[in-house]
Amino acid sequence: MKAMVLSAPNELALCDVGDPDAGEGEVIVEVAACGVCRTDLQIVSGDIAMRKRPVVPGHQVVGRVAGTGERVGLAWLAGACGRCGQCLAGRENLCELADFRGWTVDGGYAERVVARRDYAFALPDRLSDVEAAPLLCAGIIGYRSLRLSGIRPGGRLGLFGFGSSAHLAIQVARHWGCEVAVFSRSPAEHRLAHELGAAWVGGYDDPPPEALDAAVTFAPAGSVVVSALKALAPGGTVAINAIHLDGIPAFDYDLLWRERVLRSVANFTRADATEFLELAAEIPVRAQTQTFALAEAPQALARLAAGEVQGSAVLLVG
Ligand SMILES: [Zn+2]
Ligand SMILES: [Zn+2]
Repeated sequence: MKAMVLSAPNELALCDVGDPDAGEGEVIVEVAACGVCRTDLQIVSGDIAMRKRPVVPGHQVVGRVAGTGERVGLAWLAGACGRCGQCLAGRENLCELADFRGWTVDGGYAERVVARRDYAFALPDRLSDVEAAPLLCAGIIGYRSLRLSGIRPGGRLGLFGFGSSAHLAIQVARHWGCEVAVFSRSPAEHRLAHELGAAWVGGYDDPPPEALDAAVTFAPAGSVVVSALKALAPGGTVAINAIHLDGIPAFDYDLLWRERVLRSVANFTRADATEFLELAAEIPVRAQTQTFALAEAPQALARLAAGEVQGSAVLLVG
Protein backbone atom coordinates (compact mmCIF):
# COMPACT_ATOMS: atom_id res chain seq x y z
CA MET A 1 0.00 0.00 0.00
CA LYS A 2 0.97 3.67 -0.29
CA ALA A 3 1.85 5.57 2.86
CA MET A 4 3.57 8.82 3.79
CA VAL A 5 6.42 7.58 5.97
CA LEU A 6 8.40 9.75 8.39
CA SER A 7 11.84 8.11 8.71
CA ALA A 8 13.51 10.97 10.62
CA PRO A 9 12.52 14.57 11.47
CA ASN A 10 11.75 16.49 8.27
CA GLU A 11 12.04 13.32 6.16
CA LEU A 12 8.48 12.56 5.09
CA ALA A 13 8.11 10.65 1.83
CA LEU A 14 5.52 8.66 -0.11
CA CYS A 15 6.52 4.97 0.09
CA ASP A 16 5.22 1.55 -0.87
CA VAL A 17 4.97 -0.41 2.36
CA GLY A 18 3.50 -3.76 3.40
CA ASP A 19 -0.16 -3.93 4.45
CA PRO A 20 -0.73 -3.83 8.22
CA ASP A 21 -1.85 -7.01 10.05
CA ALA A 22 -4.70 -7.05 12.55
CA GLY A 23 -4.06 -8.84 15.84
CA GLU A 24 -6.49 -9.85 18.61
CA GLY A 25 -9.10 -7.10 19.15
CA GLU A 26 -7.89 -5.11 16.17
CA VAL A 27 -9.35 -4.13 12.81
CA ILE A 28 -7.94 -2.92 9.52
CA VAL A 29 -9.37 0.42 8.46
CA GLU A 30 -9.37 1.42 4.77
CA VAL A 31 -8.65 5.13 4.98
CA ALA A 32 -10.92 7.55 3.10
CA ALA A 33 -9.71 10.87 4.54
CA CYS A 34 -7.22 12.02 7.16
CA GLY A 35 -7.10 15.45 8.75
CA VAL A 36 -3.81 17.32 9.07
CA CYS A 37 -3.17 18.60 12.58
CA ARG A 38 -0.63 21.01 14.04
CA THR A 39 0.62 18.09 16.14
CA ASP A 40 1.51 16.26 12.89
CA LEU A 41 3.56 19.29 11.95
CA GLN A 42 5.35 19.25 15.31
CA ILE A 43 6.10 15.51 14.98
CA VAL A 44 7.30 15.87 11.37
CA SER A 45 9.49 18.88 12.21
CA GLY A 46 10.99 17.23 15.33
CA ASP A 47 9.49 19.72 17.84
CA ILE A 48 7.85 16.63 19.33
CA ALA A 49 10.43 13.84 19.52
CA MET A 50 9.63 10.73 17.46
CA ARG A 51 8.55 7.75 19.60
CA LYS A 52 8.29 5.17 16.76
CA ARG A 53 10.68 5.23 13.83
CA PRO A 54 9.71 5.08 11.05
CA VAL A 55 6.15 6.19 11.63
CA VAL A 56 3.14 7.05 9.48
CA PRO A 57 1.66 10.34 10.82
CA GLY A 58 -2.02 11.24 10.98
CA HIS A 59 -4.58 10.97 13.75
CA GLN A 60 -7.85 12.27 12.29
CA VAL A 61 -8.73 9.22 10.25
CA VAL A 62 -12.06 8.46 8.61
CA GLY A 63 -12.35 5.08 6.96
CA ARG A 64 -14.21 1.82 6.66
CA VAL A 65 -13.51 -1.39 8.54
CA ALA A 66 -12.21 -3.99 6.11
CA GLY A 67 -14.70 -6.83 5.83
CA THR A 68 -17.73 -5.10 7.42
CA GLY A 69 -17.62 -1.70 5.68
CA GLU A 70 -18.62 0.07 8.92
CA ARG A 71 -17.53 3.71 8.85
CA VAL A 72 -15.33 4.63 11.80
CA GLY A 73 -13.11 7.43 13.00
CA LEU A 74 -9.68 6.99 14.56
CA ALA A 75 -8.19 9.72 16.67
CA TRP A 76 -5.09 10.63 18.67
CA LEU A 77 -5.78 8.25 21.58
CA ALA A 78 -5.17 4.83 20.01
CA GLY A 79 -5.34 2.79 23.21
CA ALA A 80 -4.83 2.91 26.97
CA CYS A 81 -3.96 0.16 29.47
CA GLY A 82 -7.32 0.11 31.26
CA ARG A 83 -5.68 -0.99 34.54
CA CYS A 84 -3.59 1.90 35.93
CA GLY A 85 -4.81 4.43 38.48
CA GLN A 86 -5.49 7.06 35.83
CA CYS A 87 -7.46 4.67 33.60
CA LEU A 88 -9.50 3.41 36.56
CA ALA A 89 -10.23 7.03 37.59
CA GLY A 90 -11.71 7.81 34.16
CA ARG A 91 -8.59 9.65 32.97
CA GLU A 92 -7.33 7.32 30.25
CA ASN A 93 -6.04 10.49 28.54
CA LEU A 94 -3.30 10.54 31.21
CA CYS A 95 -2.41 6.80 31.05
CA GLU A 96 1.39 6.37 30.99
CA LEU A 97 0.99 3.34 28.73
CA ALA A 98 -1.37 5.00 26.26
CA ASP A 99 -0.70 4.75 22.54
CA PHE A 100 -1.12 7.74 20.26
CA ARG A 101 -1.98 7.47 16.59
CA GLY A 102 0.61 8.83 14.21
CA TRP A 103 3.19 9.02 17.00
CA THR A 104 3.59 5.74 18.95
CA VAL A 105 1.55 3.72 16.40
CA ASP A 106 1.07 4.29 12.67
CA GLY A 107 -1.55 6.78 11.57
CA GLY A 108 -3.78 7.65 8.66
CA TYR A 109 -1.45 9.19 6.07
CA ALA A 110 -1.81 5.78 4.40
CA GLU A 111 -4.27 3.65 2.45
CA ARG A 112 -4.77 1.27 5.39
CA VAL A 113 -4.15 1.37 9.11
CA VAL A 114 -4.59 -1.12 11.96
CA ALA A 115 -6.53 -0.03 15.05
CA ARG A 116 -7.89 -1.37 18.31
CA ARG A 117 -11.60 -2.08 17.78
CA ASP A 118 -12.49 -0.40 21.09
CA TYR A 119 -10.76 2.84 20.01
CA ALA A 120 -12.56 3.11 16.65
CA PHE A 121 -15.46 5.55 16.94
CA ALA A 122 -18.81 5.29 15.16
CA LEU A 123 -19.43 8.41 13.07
CA PRO A 124 -22.82 10.11 12.69
CA ASP A 125 -24.23 9.61 9.15
CA ARG A 126 -24.93 13.28 8.51
CA LEU A 127 -21.21 14.15 8.42
CA SER A 128 -19.31 13.41 5.21
CA ASP A 129 -15.85 11.78 5.36
CA VAL A 130 -14.11 15.10 4.76
CA GLU A 131 -16.33 16.96 7.25
CA ALA A 132 -15.82 14.33 9.92
CA ALA A 133 -12.01 14.16 9.71
CA PRO A 134 -11.15 17.47 11.44
CA LEU A 135 -13.66 16.74 14.19
CA LEU A 136 -11.53 13.79 15.30
CA CYS A 137 -8.76 15.84 16.88
CA ALA A 138 -9.35 19.54 16.49
CA GLY A 139 -13.01 19.00 17.38
CA ILE A 140 -12.72 16.53 20.25
CA ILE A 141 -9.80 18.26 21.96
CA GLY A 142 -11.42 21.66 21.44
CA TYR A 143 -14.52 20.26 23.14
CA ARG A 144 -12.49 18.90 26.07
CA SER A 145 -10.77 22.31 26.34
CA LEU A 146 -14.14 24.05 26.55
CA ARG A 147 -15.23 21.66 29.29
CA LEU A 148 -12.01 22.07 31.28
CA SER A 149 -12.20 25.87 30.95
CA GLY A 150 -15.35 25.65 33.10
CA ILE A 151 -17.33 27.85 30.66
CA ARG A 152 -21.05 27.79 31.46
CA PRO A 153 -23.93 28.28 29.03
CA GLY A 154 -24.30 32.02 28.40
CA GLY A 155 -20.84 32.83 29.81
CA ARG A 156 -18.18 35.07 28.32
CA LEU A 157 -15.54 32.95 26.59
CA GLY A 158 -12.23 33.95 25.00
CA LEU A 159 -10.57 31.91 22.22
CA PHE A 160 -6.91 32.78 21.63
CA GLY A 161 -5.82 31.71 18.16
CA PHE A 162 -8.45 30.75 15.60
CA GLY A 163 -7.28 27.77 13.56
CA SER A 164 -8.69 24.31 13.08
CA SER A 165 -9.66 23.58 16.70
CA ALA A 166 -11.01 27.04 17.64
CA HIS A 167 -13.25 27.35 14.57
CA LEU A 168 -15.00 24.16 15.70
CA ALA A 169 -15.05 25.06 19.41
CA ILE A 170 -16.78 28.39 18.70
CA GLN A 171 -19.68 26.49 17.12
CA VAL A 172 -20.18 24.48 20.31
CA ALA A 173 -19.83 27.61 22.48
CA ARG A 174 -22.39 29.49 20.37
CA HIS A 175 -24.73 26.48 20.63
CA TRP A 176 -24.39 26.87 24.44
CA GLY A 177 -25.31 30.55 24.12
CA CYS A 178 -21.87 31.84 25.09
CA GLU A 179 -20.65 35.30 24.15
CA VAL A 180 -17.36 34.61 22.39
CA ALA A 181 -14.37 36.94 22.04
CA VAL A 182 -11.75 35.81 19.49
CA PHE A 183 -8.12 36.93 19.71
CA SER A 184 -5.93 36.43 16.66
CA ARG A 185 -3.35 38.22 14.53
CA SER A 186 -4.66 37.03 11.17
CA PRO A 187 -7.20 39.12 9.19
CA ALA A 188 -8.50 35.92 7.56
CA GLU A 189 -9.12 34.40 10.99
CA HIS A 190 -10.87 37.61 12.10
CA ARG A 191 -13.26 37.31 9.15
CA LEU A 192 -13.98 33.64 9.84
CA ALA A 193 -14.57 34.41 13.54
CA HIS A 194 -17.14 37.08 12.63
CA GLU A 195 -18.87 34.68 10.24
CA LEU A 196 -19.08 32.04 12.98
CA GLY A 197 -20.73 34.41 15.44
CA ALA A 198 -17.91 35.93 17.52
CA ALA A 199 -19.27 38.90 19.51
CA TRP A 200 -15.88 40.64 19.46
CA VAL A 201 -12.65 40.09 17.53
CA GLY A 202 -9.24 41.61 18.27
CA GLY A 203 -5.48 41.07 18.55
CA TYR A 204 -3.86 38.94 21.30
CA ASP A 205 -3.20 41.91 23.56
CA ASP A 206 -6.33 43.96 22.85
CA PRO A 207 -8.55 44.20 25.94
CA PRO A 208 -12.00 42.63 25.36
CA PRO A 209 -15.04 44.80 26.22
CA GLU A 210 -15.63 42.79 29.41
CA ALA A 211 -13.39 40.43 31.40
CA LEU A 212 -13.74 36.77 30.37
CA ASP A 213 -15.27 34.02 32.50
CA ALA A 214 -13.03 31.47 30.79
CA ALA A 215 -10.48 31.28 28.01
CA VAL A 216 -8.90 28.62 25.82
CA THR A 217 -5.53 29.24 24.16
CA PHE A 218 -4.88 27.45 20.87
CA ALA A 219 -1.92 29.48 19.61
CA PRO A 220 1.33 27.51 20.12
CA ALA A 221 3.04 30.46 21.85
CA GLY A 222 3.61 30.83 25.60
CA SER A 223 3.15 34.60 25.49
CA VAL A 224 -0.50 34.10 24.46
CA VAL A 225 -1.14 32.33 27.78
CA VAL A 226 -0.18 35.55 29.58
CA SER A 227 -2.42 37.57 27.23
CA ALA A 228 -5.31 35.26 28.14
CA LEU A 229 -4.69 35.68 31.90
CA LYS A 230 -4.77 39.47 31.44
CA ALA A 231 -8.24 39.24 29.88
CA LEU A 232 -9.64 36.89 32.53
CA ALA A 233 -12.07 37.78 35.36
CA PRO A 234 -11.31 36.61 38.94
CA GLY A 235 -12.24 32.96 39.46
CA GLY A 236 -11.87 32.20 35.75
CA THR A 237 -9.78 29.52 34.06
CA VAL A 238 -7.36 29.59 31.15
CA ALA A 239 -7.20 26.13 29.52
CA ILE A 240 -4.14 25.64 27.31
CA ASN A 241 -4.90 23.50 24.27
CA ALA A 242 -1.34 22.65 23.21
CA ILE A 243 0.78 19.53 23.33
CA HIS A 244 3.92 21.62 22.79
CA LEU A 245 4.44 25.25 23.76
CA ASP A 246 7.45 27.52 23.87
CA GLY A 247 8.29 29.11 27.25
CA ILE A 248 5.63 31.07 29.10
CA PRO A 249 7.12 34.49 29.93
CA ALA A 250 7.32 35.47 33.61
CA PHE A 251 4.23 37.40 34.73
CA ASP A 252 3.05 39.26 37.81
CA TYR A 253 1.31 37.13 40.41
CA ASP A 254 -1.51 39.69 40.28
CA LEU A 255 -2.58 38.10 36.99
CA LEU A 256 -3.21 34.78 38.75
CA TRP A 257 -4.32 36.16 42.12
CA ARG A 258 -8.05 36.05 43.00
CA GLU A 259 -8.38 32.39 42.16
CA ARG A 260 -7.68 32.48 38.49
CA VAL A 261 -6.68 29.01 37.27
CA LEU A 262 -4.15 28.06 34.59
CA ARG A 263 -4.35 24.47 33.34
CA SER A 264 -3.28 22.35 30.39
CA VAL A 265 -5.48 20.03 28.34
CA ALA A 266 -3.89 16.70 27.48
CA ASN A 267 -5.35 14.34 24.88
CA PHE A 268 -8.95 13.18 25.43
CA THR A 269 -10.94 10.21 26.64
CA ARG A 270 -13.27 7.98 24.64
CA ALA A 271 -16.16 9.57 26.55
CA ASP A 272 -15.10 13.02 25.22
CA ALA A 273 -15.00 11.62 21.69
CA THR A 274 -18.43 9.98 21.86
CA GLU A 275 -20.08 13.00 23.51
CA PHE A 276 -18.55 15.46 21.09
CA LEU A 277 -19.31 13.48 17.92
CA GLU A 278 -22.99 13.21 18.92
CA LEU A 279 -23.16 16.92 19.77
CA ALA A 280 -21.35 17.85 16.54
CA ALA A 281 -23.94 15.97 14.46
CA GLU A 282 -26.81 17.56 16.41
CA ILE A 283 -25.63 21.22 16.17
CA PRO A 284 -24.32 20.50 13.42
CA VAL A 285 -20.67 21.57 13.66
CA ARG A 286 -19.32 22.38 10.21
CA ALA A 287 -15.59 22.22 9.53
CA GLN A 288 -14.17 24.51 6.86
CA THR A 289 -11.82 22.28 4.94
CA GLN A 290 -9.13 22.51 2.32
CA THR A 291 -8.37 19.15 0.70
CA PHE A 292 -5.11 17.69 -0.57
CA ALA A 293 -4.09 14.35 -2.12
CA LEU A 294 -2.16 11.89 0.09
CA ALA A 295 1.09 12.63 -1.76
CA GLU A 296 0.57 16.36 -1.08
CA ALA A 297 0.91 15.91 2.69
CA PRO A 298 4.20 17.87 2.78
CA GLN A 299 2.53 20.81 1.00
CA ALA A 300 -0.45 20.65 3.37
CA LEU A 301 1.93 20.72 6.36
CA ALA A 302 3.91 23.62 4.85
CA ARG A 303 0.74 25.65 4.33
CA LEU A 304 -0.35 24.92 7.89
CA ALA A 305 3.07 26.05 9.16
CA ALA A 306 2.77 29.25 7.13
CA GLY A 307 -0.69 29.97 8.55
CA GLU A 308 -2.22 29.61 5.08
CA VAL A 309 -4.89 27.03 5.88
CA GLN A 310 -8.28 28.47 6.74
CA GLY A 311 -10.14 25.99 8.91
CA SER A 312 -8.72 22.46 8.54
CA ALA A 313 -6.55 20.69 5.97
CA VAL A 314 -7.69 17.17 5.00
CA LEU A 315 -5.91 14.53 2.91
CA LEU A 316 -8.16 12.60 0.52
CA VAL A 317 -6.89 9.04 0.53
CA GLY A 318 -9.48 6.50 -0.66
ZN1 LIG B 1 -3.70 3.20 32.00
ZN1 LIG C 1 -4.31 16.65 16.51
